[in-house]
Amino acid sequence: MLVVMEEGASEPQIEKVIARLVSMGFTVHRSTGVTHTLLGGVGPIPDFDPATFEVMDGVKECHRIVSPYKLASRHFRPGGTIVKIRDVQIGDGKVVVMAGPCSVENHDQIEAIAEIVARDGASVIRGGAFKPRTSPYSFQGLGEDGLRMMREAADRNNLLVISEVMDQTQIPLMSEYVDILQVGARNMQNYNLLRQLGEIRKPVLLKRGISATIEEMLLSAEYVLSGGNYDVILCERGIRTFESYTRNTMDISAIPVVQALSHLPIVADPSHGTGRRDKVIPMARAAVAAGADGLLVEVHQDPDNALSDGAQSLKPEQFAEMMQQIRIIASAVGKSV
Ligand code: PEP
Ligand code: MN
Repeated sequence: MLVVMEEGASEPQIEKVIARLVSMGFTVHRSTGVTHTLLGGVGPIPDFDPATFEVMDGVKECHRIVSPYKLASRHFRPGGTIVKIRDVQIGDGKVVVMAGPCSVENHDQIEAIAEIVARDGASVIRGGAFKPRTSPYSFQGLGEDGLRMMREAADRNNLLVISEVMDQTQIPLMSEYVDILQVGARNMQNYNLLRQLGEIRKPVLLKRGISATIEEMLLSAEYVLSGGNYDVILCERGIRTFESYTRNTMDISAIPVVQALSHLPIVADPSHGTGRRDKVIPMARAAVAAGADGLLVEVHQDPDNALSDGAQSLKPEQFAEMMQQIRIIASAVGKSV
């Protein structure tokens, strides 16, 4: 349920409503907006009368939220969430570009890519240090060495770092090096990991599972939010369909659908979404046109020799071209890059 406080409701009035919710067995999540404070009450309480709250001092209205996710719902924060990390804001109308290799491979590679993506306008460098590979014989990532290399390259180029966390035991180590923890498609429903990520105060980028519905993705986000970590960014990265020409089918419509259902920012990953370098730029353009809050793109200076996902990694000159094109498209939909 959701209690919307009146504009200018006093702190004691808010506290009183919170106390009432708690006494009824709800867990309370507070969202303090510019004009209104919203109190989300989460709990399996079958019958209660919203009027109980509507008559309390300082309360404007009270609603039952019938969707299965409450904190991820747009109702909880009608104005949208902006995830702020140093001088980067995700969800504020700017298209934030996160770019870099699929995997951190060595010192020279990550240094060179950091410089390239920063020069062309990315704000975040991506790169996996722990890799979820389909085959156990494929390159599994450099682990902590990779994280350290990426952090250093990022700091030299004023970039933030995003990297994938594969299980909860990696959270403390990764938190020392990265600014955003990425949950990969294969882990979207790893509920132990999601719960643990709810306990920390570091932004999480949650990728849509390979066969997950939008509702399932929002329920996974709810796991993180319900722990009190509200800095969640969603990511459409393509889903598996009967089409086999592309690696996955990029669901561009997920972007406006999520924006209507949820307050969380949503970015698009056209690299995993298509699996083909020649289709990444068109899908990046489409995602920006559809209103994405950012892009997550794989870029490599020598993609033919990349240790993972070379076929879908842009060459540096293609990345520059993509940036140039999305700047034009962003301005057509009232955004900037
Ligand atoms: C990645 O970002 O390199 C990755 C493994 O992505 P996904 O989880 O979407 O497959
Ligand atoms: Mn990859």
